[in-house]
Amino acid sequence: MDNKRYVIIGGSAAGMAAAETIRTCDPNGHIQVLSEEGDAPYFRPMIPFVVSRKKKADEISMQGQGPYRAENVEIRLATRITGIDTRTASVITEQGESISYDRLLIATGSRPNIPQNITNLNCNGVFALRTLADARQASERAKNTTHAILLGGGLLNLKAAFALLERGIKVTLVVYSPEILSQLMEPADALLLRRALGRAGLTILTDCSAVQIRSDRHGVRAVTLDNGLELVCRMVCIGKGVRPNADWIDNNEITLDKGVVVDKYTCTGADHVYAAGDVAVTYESITGKPVVTGLWTNAVEMGRCAGANMAGRPTVYGGTFGIMNATQIARMPFVSMGMVHTTGTDYETHCKSSRESYRKLVFSPEGDRLIGALFIGDISGAGLYRAIIRERLRINEIKPRVIDHTLHYGHLLCAKGYEKGTVQ
Ligand SMILES: Cc1cc2nc3c(=O)[nH]c(=O)nc-3n(C[C@H](O)[C@H](O)[C@H](O)COP(=O)(O)OP(=O)(O)OC[C@H]3O[C@@H](n4cnc5c(N)ncnc54)[C@H](O)[C@@H]3O)c2cc1C
Repeated sequence: MDNKRYVIIGGSAAGMAAAETIRTCDPNGHIQVLSEEGDAPYFRPMIPFVVSRKKKADEISMQGQGPYRAENVEIRLATRITGIDTRTASVITEQGESISYDRLLIATGSRPNIPQNITNLNCNGVFALRTLADARQASERAKNTTHAILLGGGLLNLKAAFALLERGIKVTLVVYSPEILSQLMEPADALLLRRALGRAGLTILTDCSAVQIRSDRHGVRAVTLDNGLELVCRMVCIGKGVRPNADWIDNNEITLDKGVVVDKYTCTGADHVYAAGDVAVTYESITGKPVVTGLWTNAVEMGRCAGANMAGRPTVYGGTFGIMNATQIARMPFVSMGMVHTTGTDYETHCKSSRESYRKLVFSPEGDRLIGALFIGDISGAGLYRAIIRERLRINEIKPRVIDHTLHYGHLLCAKGYEKGTVQ
């Protein structure tokens, strides 16, 4: 029998994780990765370090590391795919070349959401940090910048902000919401982080947005806000969320709903066509609701699952875990997981704060399950809390310890035992 032809569109977290898994399951198949980018696979979350100049581009390469250790994988760079023909089982490149597949993975990720209501966004010095090429350009622009305006208060923009602060540039964050990180916490939760960001030198303007960018022959000169304020600057970075890279797909058999809809085996509706990573619409493991996540770890996990299925090993994807984020900003570590937005809900909520730390625990309305947690400053034990949420354990017997933060692994095992009836 001929060797199988595996084609993967997108050479990043999901695509390379799939390639590695396929190679493990099928030593003889031909694996071809097609990537629009000119750069070989790299760790996307590390591109802010290229802006801050803490790392060179080759130091964030994925070659030989992370989800990309597989031998014998053909990678074609600068190859953009514009269509899928499921009748002939082939994909079409921008140049009109047809490439046939036995199994196809769509792993085209996401791209920055660019607001349409800001005038003159196309001038020099306006960036959205998504690719290594963007990071190189932003780093170059930073050489002639003393003040940068960042539009959006999400995690990616905070990372970009710190990269620029480290270059000695004054940075102002313009946030439409009443508070930063509004997807990961509520305004009342963000106090500690806000203080830390202020100490680090970041200026934050909330409840406002940009309406116009003024430019001269050198590019950006100022940003005008909807409250009339004009901020003089030489650089603008847009961090207004991302959207799945799925609008190039026009095929009746592949269902699109924001991203590419997949079943629990990561299959699209078309025969032998799979999707994984930021481009895929999967389901949230606590609520069961459809969700598109923008997380590296989810993309790798899903890519591995898709790879196994493509290579003939049926594997169920367990769903993603709400918006789970663990990171450090302004030397302040934090973890946000599951349901943390409680205003207007009947969730049972417990908050505890001190000068150095803040903890919020969210229980189901019945109070018997932990459904969300936010730790800022002190993130010890977060892994145990994650397990309790993810496994949807009934925690009645150990609830006081969950609330007091005196939980250890033994309690988790007991909770599992109560759930299964093996512990009375
Ligand atoms: C600055 C930054 C910081 C981040 N920090 C974190 C973090 O701390 N933690 C975390 O979990 N996540 C983080 N992320 C998000 C994380 O990088 C993404 O969730 C992850 O990269 C998604 O992987 P993916 O393989 O699905 O897609 P992507 O990484 O988006 O890759 C998709 C690839 O497909 C290519 N492509 C798209 N369309 C086509 C086409 N038509 N033809 C050919 N190729 C195509 C793209 O060019 C790209 O190379 C960060 C992202 C950025 C930008």
